[in-house]
Amino acid sequence: MSSLSAPPTAIPTPVVLPVSKAVLWLFGTALIALAVYYFIGVDQGAYSVFGNDMHIHEFVHDSRHFLGFPCH
Ligand SMILES: [Zn+2]
Repeated sequence: MSSLSAPPTAIPTPVVLPVSKAVLWLFGTALIALAVYYFIGVDQGAYSVFGNDMHIHEFVHDSRHFLGFPCH
């Protein structure tokens, strides 16, 4: 009868975080979107990832004006 009066013991189960394909797509898309946002909206040539180079600025120049980012 002593086993009936003992409190139930909890069995610890490991916590498994679900890393699904949707999470990977979410982070990949966010990373690419941030890179596109940087190159269109921030990269001006004077402070560029590739140094004093205006190629990216000129490549995305029309989209920068179209989207309303300040340019010149
Ligand atoms: Zn411009």
